[in-house]
Parts: sequence; C-alpha cells; structure tokens
Amino acid sequence: MRASNPKSDGGRSPRIAIIGGGITGQTLAIGLLRRNITSFTLYERASAFREIGAGIGFTDNAERAMKALDARIHAGFKSVAAQNSDDWFRYVDGFNHNPQNPGDMNEELMFKMYLGERGFEGCRRSDFLQKLVDMVPSEHVRFRKNLRTVEEQKDGDGVVVMTFEDGSTAEADVVIGCDGIKSRLRQLMFGPSTNAKYSHKFAFRGLIPMSKARAALGEERTAVRVMHLGQDAHALTFPVADGALLNVVAFATDPNPWQTDPEEEEGGTKFVAPATRAEAMRAFAAFGPAVKTIMSLLPEKLDKWAVFDTYDDPVPTYVRGNLCLAGDAAHASCPHHGAGAGCGIEDSLVLAELLAATAEIGEGSRMTEVLQVYNEVRYERSQWLVQSSRVVGEMYEWQDKECGRDAERIGKEVERRSHLIWDYDVDEMVKTALKLMEGRIKGR
Ligand SMILES: Cc1cc2nc3c(=O)[nH]c(=O)nc-3n(C[C@H](O)[C@H](O)[C@H](O)COP(=O)(O)OP(=O)(O)OC[C@H]3O[C@@H](n4cnc5c(N)ncnc54)[C@H](O)[C@@H]3O)c2cc1C
Repeated sequence: MRASNPKSDGGRSPRIAIIGGGITGQTLAIGLLRRNITSFTLYERASAFREIGAGIGFTDNAERAMKALDARIHAGFKSVAAQNSDDWFRYVDGFNHNPQNPGDMNEELMFKMYLGERGFEGCRRSDFLQKLVDMVPSEHVRFRKNLRTVEEQKDGDGVVVMTFEDGSTAEADVVIGCDGIKSRLRQLMFGPSTNAKYSHKFAFRGLIPMSKARAALGEERTAVRVMHLGQDAHALTFPVADGALLNVVAFATDPNPWQTDPEEEEGGTKFVAPATRAEAMRAFAAFGPAVKTIMSLLPEKLDKWAVFDTYDDPVPTYVRGNLCLAGDAAHASCPHHGAGAGCGIEDSLVLAELLAATAEIGEGSRMTEVLQVYNEVRYERSQWLVQSSRVVGEMYEWQDKECGRDAERIGKEVERRSHLIWDYDVDEMVKTALKLMEGRIKGR
C-alpha cells in the first residue's frame, strides 16, 4: 500500500465523489482515508446509512481485500462474525425424503467443500455496516443527496457537475457510482436498458432465534453453513450474531414476471414484497422434514426479495470519461455464490490504490486513464461472477442440463467455480493495476 500525500501533485488534489454509502462506497471511503486521500465526499440518498438485519457471508478473497484496504475493516468484520463450528460447507439433499417418516430430519449429504482457514463466516449486515460507518468521519458525508444528473463540463478538464434531487449541485473530478443495483449513475452513463432484470427467483429471508432452531433441528444442522438443495428451490442456513440467530435465505423459482408495485419506489421496481410464513411453507411443501421445519420456524410475517441481476444486459464498460461504476452498480449478481459484496470490496481496493498512486505522481487531471485501468482489471472477473452466480443457482435447484441431480457433477462444478472466487490473488490484482497505470503514463 502506498502512503501518499494528496498535496504532492503540485496542484489541487482530485476531488472524488462517491455516490452511495453501502458496503462498496464505505469500504472505498475507508481505503482512501487509509491512503491519506481526504479530498472525497460520500453522497448518500438516505437520511442515514442503513442496512437490513439479514445475514451476509464473506469469502476468503473478500476478507483479504478488506485487510488490504484497511486492517480495521477486517477486524470490524471479525468482531461481528459468527464462527462456523466446522471446517466444511455442507450441500445436502433437502428434497428427497421418506414420506412415511415425517419426523426424520436427516438430509443426505450430496457433497461438501472444505473451508478450513478460509472462513466464509456470516454476520448481520447492519452490524458490519455500522463498523464501517464508524470509520468514516462525518465531514466526508452528505446525506439526503439523491443523484439525479451529471454533466461533464466541456472546458473544465473533465470536471463533472452533479445535480441532486434537492436542486443542489456539486463538482468533482471523478464520480464513482457505488449506488447499488438500481444505480442512477449506470442509467445516466448507459441508459435504462442496462437496468437489472428479474432472474426468476425470489428469496424469503428471515432470522430464527438459535435456541428455537437448535431445539427443532439439532446442534449439527444449525452450527454450520448448510445449502439445502432441491427441485426448483433451495435454502441456505448459517449462524449469525455470534451464534444467537440462524439466518435463512430460501430461494424459489418463479416463472412469472416479478409483480411490480403500481407505486414504484425511487429508482424503479420494488424488489421487496411482503410475504408470510405460510407462503414460504407452500413454496417448500415438496421438500423433506428438515427444510419444512426451517420454514415453519420463520416469523409469521416475512419479506420476499426478488433476485434481480445484470446478467441479461451488462454494461459494456465500467467507465465513461471521469464517471465510473463499482459494486452492484457495475455488476449486480444473483447471491448464489455469496460473493457480490466481496466483489465490490475488491473494486474498492483497486480504486483506492489507483487513486492513491495517482495523487502521489501528480496525475490528478488524468482521471479517465486511471479509471480505464480500473475497468481493465475488474471487468472480466466481476462479469464472470454475474454469469456464474446464475449457473450455480440453477445447479442448486437441479435445473442445470449438464448436471441435473447428479451430486458428483454438481459438487465438482460448484467447487471449481467457488475456488475461482475464493483463491483470487488480490495483491496480484493491485500489482497488475499499478503496473498498467505506470505503463500508460510512461507511454504518453
Ligand atoms: C438475498 C441476498 C443475499 C446476499 N448474500 C451475500 C453474501 O452472503 N455475500 C456477499 O458478498 N454478497 C451477498 N449479496 C450481495 C450483496 O448484498 C451486494 O453485492 C452488496 O450489498 C452491494 O453493495 P453496494 O454497496 O454495491 O450497493 P448497496 O448496498 O445497494 O448500496 C447502495 C447505496 O447507494 C445509495 N444510493 C442509491 N441510489 C443513490 C443515488 N441516486 N444517490 C445517492 N445515493 C444512492 C443507497 O441508499 C445505498 O446506501 C446478497 C444479495 C442478496 C440479494
């Protein structure tokens, strides 16, 4: 990591606008601060930073990216993460069962993946976000700033004027859209045709008090990460909140269009709709007793989340001029690899390193080239994640033509793809980016 002096560019430091304070925007802000870059402002649409209470897991690559951005991010995650009590991620057949024995909680193991030191631990999203928020001083943050338009000034050396919904404006030399799956900046850069589309799966999400979960399902099934596979639906369970809660994400395939609310929310279609425990139980009625029991323990009133992604209409690039996209704004994927937010953290790491190096060598006015390097390093991997997340989601629901219900085939393919995510060398990614940038500058 470079410790740069933002004043060393001989002129003013580039003004960086971060749009959106989710995991991507916050980790980018912290990474910049860690590299002594203070000339940034984070603009957030809401009146406070918010995350839902549901769980999130981070894979090994994400943990390494956290450490490289700022060790405090990683320590913050570890302080709220629940340790898996076992080194294996289990994939079980949650579907086939003996109807004569409705009390039999056993599910046949289809395959398991070794996690070991890798972790893949889960936490409550809101707990992790709070850790991040605490690391970004409030002078860098503007709330109730809902980005509406951006305009690159013709004679302003790439200066961008942003207009917000409240009519206020602000200038920046680079605008980084970390504004999530419904990204306004993505729309402004590439048009509404790049809006995320329905993947035809939705998820019931809920938390079960661990004492209840354990009493019904036993210790073994609740202390580790378990993927319950089945026909046209699947459910993931893992402990969060220091083991006090069992997080449930239960996906079902939906051939219908996602029902859109006539009063659509800001930014387009509402992805969350009210649901009930009875509805979740109906969706898993054909499954075995263990999965049915999990559904029966969910709270009576639930939310269901439509799974949208950018698989159908990916953006052609993450950069246009001095505008750039990161995190879900760039590459919203289905959550089936559990790696979307981790991929956003990798984006933040490259951006923080490139912007720090830029400030150090006094290239603040050549933002477009810096951003192009970011695009070159990040586009292929993150777009692959979008594709692969769809593929493994189909495998978990026995819809993949090659693998069908074949445990060995699914296991091999899921493991191969997972390791492409987990084993990624984030240090090498940074080295490549810095080398590319150096080459560009020398080549001028
Ligand atoms: C069911 C489910 C389970 C998942 N599980 C995992 C998991 O286990 N592991 C994992 O790594 N990933 C997981 N993901 C993916 C992960 O949730 C996302 O990749 C991640 O939250 C994206 O973070 P972000 O900061 O890019 O966007 P967001 O979290 O969407 O943040 C965007 C921010 O921008 C703000 N904003 C939006 N528009 C504007 C605007 N116009 N102006 C100003 N501000 C704006 C918003 O208010 C928000 O604060 C899961 C996703 C789902 C749906």
